[in-house]
Amino acid sequence: MAIVRLGELLGQDAAGAFLREVVKRGRPSTAYLFQGAAGIGKGTAALAFARALLCERSPGAAATPDLFAAPAPSGGDACGECPACHKTASLQHPDLKFVFPVSGEERELEATIAETLQGLREDPLFVFVYEKAASIRLSITRELLRELAYAPYEAARRVVVVRDADRMREDQYSAMLKTLEEPGGSTVWVLTSARPSRLPATIRSRCQRVPFASLSEARLRDFLEERAQVSSTEARLLAALSGGSLARALAMRDSEPLRVRDEALALLGPALRGDRAGLWRAAQSFMKYGHTGRETLKRMFEMHQLWLRDLLRVQAGMPREAIAHRDRETEIRRQAAGVAPSEIRRRLAVLEEAIQSIDGNVTADLTVFSAMARVAGSRIGEGRWPEHAAARWNY
Ligand SMILES: [Zn+2]
Repeated sequence: MAIVRLGELLGQDAAGAFLREVVKRGRPSTAYLFQGAAGIGKGTAALAFARALLCERSPGAAATPDLFAAPAPSGGDACGECPACHKTASLQHPDLKFVFPVSGEERELEATIAETLQGLREDPLFVFVYEKAASIRLSITRELLRELAYAPYEAARRVVVVRDADRMREDQYSAMLKTLEEPGGSTVWVLTSARPSRLPATIRSRCQRVPFASLSEARLRDFLEERAQVSSTEARLLAALSGGSLARALAMRDSEPLRVRDEALALLGPALRGDRAGLWRAAQSFMKYGHTGRETLKRMFEMHQLWLRDLLRVQAGMPREAIAHRDRETEIRRQAAGVAPSEIRRRLAVLEEAIQSIDGNVTADLTVFSAMARVAGSRIGEGRWPEHAAARWNY
């Protein structure tokens, strides 16, 4: 993510247009809630919105309006040139407060936050990755609320961006609610959340909702190819696997998706031949005797799902543009000609079940073995079981 302008948001035309209109009118609401799936640009949009609201040429932004200043740009966006725009671009505007969840020790909090902000400033493809327990810290919101008691420093308004606002505690919400209820305040709150139902209803009801749409595969693919220097084969796979989330696609970029794909598809060979011993060895080798992580295992099954989705798409006569594994199109077309759609759906159901089981206490290589055997049509329980001991996760 980067600190961009509202006009530069990726694939959020409706939200972008709405927010520009708000800026243009110069009378923003007290609070907005940007909601939509994770990784589709809500956070980027929140900072872009803040930037536009603080831009010295935006209506109502300047603390002492200069009557002779250039007229406001008609687009309702940050001008990108005024001193305020320069400060917001590097997240150094005193009236822009940016709060986000962090994990780790409280005594390392300052360093963690500084490091995150540095990454955000320097890397236009920066992705926020949270641990499960990451939260917006109490000390941070306390300090923020103290500061809100004073007037803004430079602009006529202050903008507080709270990323993933659902990661707070009950008492933080109540404290926040008090300031949301104060009439005539000079603060504009912008909350983002992929799980808005986790926010207290009292907070939600005070926010104007701004929905964000998931990104299309085509848009993600183009972005990955053009802006993230990902090869077209990889971009196609990542876009298809990401479920419309740019952050997820970017995070997966370093996990060698093509190698995982090839290893994944290779597992099907012995399965289809009915070579159980071969499949067992392949499964163990894929799991590296427990060293392969759950994410990679999940990705492996997802690669198979994509493959089957490609078969269905070819059968439905969709254009080659729609094929995720397009570098293996010949093979896809050959298989599609020989498998019934009902069989493909059966295989998809097997894979879905396997993916669901991963988060439980599964024996990894056995999961790979049985799922692949079932995809290939064998019924587990028939014939001879593999004799080796199964490896559990190694961590
Ligand atoms: Zn400006």
